[in-house]
Amino acid sequence: MDDSLKVACPQCHALNRVPLLRLDEAPTCGRCRKPLFAGHPVVLGVDSFAAHQSRSDLPLLVDFWAPWCQPCLMMAPNFEAAAGELEPNVRLAKVDTQSEPTLAQQFGIRSIPTLVLFARGQEVARKAGAMGALDIIRWTQANLPRR
Ligand code: ZN
Repeated sequence: MDDSLKVACPQCHALNRVPLLRLDEAPTCGRCRKPLFAGHPVVLGVDSFAAHQSRSDLPLLVDFWAPWCQPCLMMAPNFEAAAGELEPNVRLAKVDTQSEPTLAQQFGIRSIPTLVLFARGQEVARKAGAMGALDIIRWTQANLPRR
């Protein structure tokens, strides 16, 4: 097993190689020098999605949402809190299905909010409906593939 991971930067989306043992030590991006883990979900669009979904080695949890959706807005702080807990082992991201209809269509999002968990570029789990922070964390950990 490789002892380092490719991690996409939440700011500039550059791929960084991070030694597994240093994942917890607040690594920074080699290109933009920003922290690779800031404890917040990263906002993704068509141009940045693949860097985190398929090119990064980190599992990716995506919240597909829309600004007009009340349950989505209610879940937002829970998702934010879950990011603080699940990083640096999982990257959390938000996709606004209204401004990114291509991504919503690509992944067949029929209702929002919908959480989709990806690992190594493949969808491993999906759940529709708003969830509390603890439920998000538990559901994600239960569905993560073993390393
Ligand atoms: Zn960067």
